[in-house]
Amino acid sequence: MVIDSHCHAGKGDRMTAPWNTDAPIGAYLRRARAAGIDKTIVFAPFHSDYAKANAQVGRIVAEDPDRLIGFAFVHAGRDAGRIFSMVECAVTRWHFRGIKLHGFDAMPTREVCEAARAFGLPVLADVVGRAEVVEMFAPQYRDVNFIVPHLGSFADDWRAHQQVIDQLCRYPNVYTDTAGVRRFDYIVEAIKRAGARKILFGSDGPWLHPGVEIHKIRLLGLSPDQEALILGGNALRLLRPVLRSPTLMRSSRRPVCAASGNSHAHQALSVAQDNRAYLPPGTQLEHEL
Ligand SMILES: [Zn+2]
Repeated sequence: MVIDSHCHAGKGDRMTAPWNTDAPIGAYLRRARAAGIDKTIVFAPFHSDYAKANAQVGRIVAEDPDRLIGFAFVHAGRDAGRIFSMVECAVTRWHFRGIKLHGFDAMPTREVCEAARAFGLPVLADVVGRAEVVEMFAPQYRDVNFIVPHLGSFADDWRAHQQVIDQLCRYPNVYTDTAGVRRFDYIVEAIKRAGARKILFGSDGPWLHPGVEIHKIRLLGLSPDQEALILGGNALRLLRPVLRSPTLMRSSRRPVCAASGNSHAHQALSVAQDNRAYLPPGTQLEHEL
């Protein structure tokens, strides 16, 4: 199974650049199908209210649940105090499977990492070239898996690439994705040093073409086993739901859901007291490993 582990969906509200204006999923899905991509992890573009943005992504995922898997976007600073609740809503209501945050907003805080730990979710943390912050959160939360996208820098910062490759080797819980990485030999080096198990294929669609991005992986000339890990096996492993604290699901707090009315969320929450209900529809994923 081929999984694109990095794609945006929905509309941003700031409208000063493509990445905070619109991430149209339609064209992406046509391109992804043509490229042989079976499933795609999607999350919001930049937004001034990620509870709203996540609700939008939830609706997009609900329209194509066989192909799309949602991650909850949070702003570690602005959303402080409600991150657990936002993640809870995303997991129970929309069956999201991970947390996304971006260093242009704020770097991962303990609140984010503890929510990830509680729900057993991977954290896709764009460190915008500041690879040194990985040295803080990765050893503090060894039981949380972190995906540091773009080999640490979407902006081709080779120093960040080098640091992240080193971190992939040193921290079992640090992974990266290939989305938008242009300096091909750093991908080669990452696989050589850290192993294919630490690298996930991602496209950064819809703005980057998934067919172009997947071709980079094919050009690596890996063994079929290694290629299969990068193209989907690693993502499947990280998405495997781990419910570490079932008692959390018995909480009576209102999860932060942006869409009008929280009744569905409350229903989902009460149903989620049965742990099986906590597992999203894509749970067959883990059996396909
Ligand atoms: Zn991205």
